[in-house]
Amino acid sequence: MSNHQKGWLDFDRRHLWHPYTSMTEPMPVFPVVSASGVRLRLEDGRELIDGMASWWSAIHGYNHPRLNAALHRQIDRMSHVMFGGLTHPPAVALGRKLVDLTPAALQHVFFSDSGSVAVEVAMKMAIQFWYSQGRPQKHRLLTIRNGYHGDTFGAMSVCDPDTGMHQIWSGLLQQHLFAAAPQCRFDEEWNPQEINGLQRLVEQHHQELSAIILEPIVQGAGGMRFYHPQYLREVRALCDQYELLLIADEIATGFGRSGKLFACEHAGIAPDILCLGKALTGGTMTLAATLATTRVAEGLSQGEPGVFMHGPTFMGNPLACAVASASIDLLLESDWSGQVSGIAAGLEAGLAPCRKLPQVADVRVLGAIGVVEMKEPVDMAQIQAQFVEQGVWVRPFGKLVYVMPPYVINEQDLDRLSGAICRVVEQQSNA
Ligand code: PMP
Repeated sequence: MSNHQKGWLDFDRRHLWHPYTSMTEPMPVFPVVSASGVRLRLEDGRELIDGMASWWSAIHGYNHPRLNAALHRQIDRMSHVMFGGLTHPPAVALGRKLVDLTPAALQHVFFSDSGSVAVEVAMKMAIQFWYSQGRPQKHRLLTIRNGYHGDTFGAMSVCDPDTGMHQIWSGLLQQHLFAAAPQCRFDEEWNPQEINGLQRLVEQHHQELSAIILEPIVQGAGGMRFYHPQYLREVRALCDQYELLLIADEIATGFGRSGKLFACEHAGIAPDILCLGKALTGGTMTLAATLATTRVAEGLSQGEPGVFMHGPTFMGNPLACAVASASIDLLLESDWSGQVSGIAAGLEAGLAPCRKLPQVADVRVLGAIGVVEMKEPVDMAQIQAQFVEQGVWVRPFGKLVYVMPPYVINEQDLDRLSGAICRVVEQQSNA
């Protein structure tokens, strides 16, 4: 390692927080200097095949010329301008695309900076909607266990109470209601008992509930679980019957990842409020959107205060909106559906050998998402280094070794990725 590299890595280690790490005992980090297609290039010249799409976002791969061109075009006009009292073509163009792409009832778009903020906005919309209808007592939310919705306080309050470490924040987080996570897997036969727990909570608490919030079909960071579409249909029906709004957090699943453009399509339902982020800009910049139906948007604009009380500084950032529009165009022009089902087939075949390993509890694939669930939590630092040695970028957490590669990954790279996972999983100590 050169002195130069040692210097900046040393600064990083001592001064920069990384996601979910300690400042006194930080996990090792790998210095990346560039990325293109499905390759991350490390400072020492090694290249890694990317299995993570930078946490669901880089669906077209890195350094894509079309996305770069859109950024260059916009940066020469204006990178940013406030959205209060001003508007601009990139926001309008993107808003139009989102309204067109999503279910017909979702007509109104609120742009924000990140997924967590999009969730905060969704929760505020639901609560303010009922407040404006003269029903301020409908201010709690109901969700399912094993969910993940972000790290800000509102979002945390609807994350799984155990993995979301609610004990640290007791007294500070709003007390929402949690139903058991659905157990019926995506491809199993539907078990009608599945909905009983959530139904009971709705029956008991609907007078104080504003909305149900959940990740449709794919529970991401809270366990990488894929549940049955009928569950989502039952939730939609209960929301209608008991006057609750349905908030779908498609921040991870949006834009094709689960095999449908939006995961709600697996169940043929539409939410009242929809959160998007991550792949919205093809993984180039941070941007999120919360879409609402006309009923919600007009409903919350009635009475006092009559306005929606949220307005981030970088709302509708033109650079991010411009690249998001380019990313959506690129997606729709591509055979994304074929690519995603190709990845699904590749992961099914490539990860199959893991099923026989004594360390492995389960292997599951949906769309361009592959999961190997271990019996025991992995040693993060050790397994990460083993993956890098194999020439791939995979970042497990807890018992989960999982990948969601860019859609543009080719068969050969996908084979190398799955092969590396099988080898590394086999190297883990036996349960
Ligand atoms: N919701 C879901 C379903 C997510 O997967 C994430 C991010 N992992 C978030 C919300 C939060 O998004 P962000 O990290 O951009 O705040």
